[in-house]
Amino acid sequence: MAVPKRKVSKSRRDMRRSHRSLTAASRSECPNCGELKRPHHVCSACGYYDGREVVQTDAA
Ligand SMILES: [Zn+2]
Repeated sequence: MAVPKRKVSKSRRDMRRSHRSLTAASRSECPNCGELKRPHHVCSACGYYDGREVVQTDAA
């Protein structure tokens, strides 16, 4: 149910938002080059995914 904005105290409003914080993106080590990469994503350093090169990179 809608409540007038001024009827909700700053404390109550901010307590409601206490669960909305951002979390850091998880990182895991690339099995090919050891660089930290996001899980289930192509490695940005070597372009490998699932044991094979899927993207050409400059520093190959
Ligand atoms: Zn890699």
